[in-house]
Amino acid sequence: MAVGKARIAPFINDVFTVTSPWWADRGGEIHRGLDISTGAKDPVYSMLDGTVVQMWHNDSSMGNALVIKADDNTATLYMHLDSFSVSLNSTVKVGQQVGIEGTTGESTGVHLHVEMQVMSGSRWKWSYNKSDYLDPTAFMGIDNVKNTQWIYDGTPIPPEPTPSKVQRKKFPWVLYARKIRSR
Ligand SMILES: [Zn+2]
Repeated sequence: MAVGKARIAPFINDVFTVTSPWWADRGGEIHRGLDISTGAKDPVYSMLDGTVVQMWHNDSSMGNALVIKADDNTATLYMHLDSFSVSLNSTVKVGQQVGIEGTTGESTGVHLHVEMQVMSGSRWKWSYNKSDYLDPTAFMGIDNVKNTQWIYDGTPIPPEPTPSKVQRKKFPWVLYARKIRSR
């Protein structure tokens, strides 16, 4: 199978597979995240410049999980990490390692569960309204299709129209994310 190129991803130079699409109906339960797996306990990276605002250590369902929130309130929630490489209130940059892929919590294999939303406060909003979420596959520039494979080389690719060279250097991923509301 051909491996597609992601605009940005939580894995770098590491082919990953979509194991469960975002917002899939799994027997009556909506899957609010995107499951991706490299098949191994590999490093997991931030897709945002932001701050670690919430962490859960071995939660029964989420395992080791963390929320990274950017200044414009765009946020990512990663679950099932094997371990962390950041702490609560850590400042992180795009491409910075935040942990190791794992299978902690309610998980049947090594993978990363990624959710995205616009956080109004400092707490993740638990909801089943699609409008409360952002589509992580749109942000990453990948297809929301099970078993498709992708790679990200560590250099974020801005969406079209391509910004100027100067803008491109400091491309505001958080601003891009804001425009991608749920489909
Ligand atoms: Zn999941």
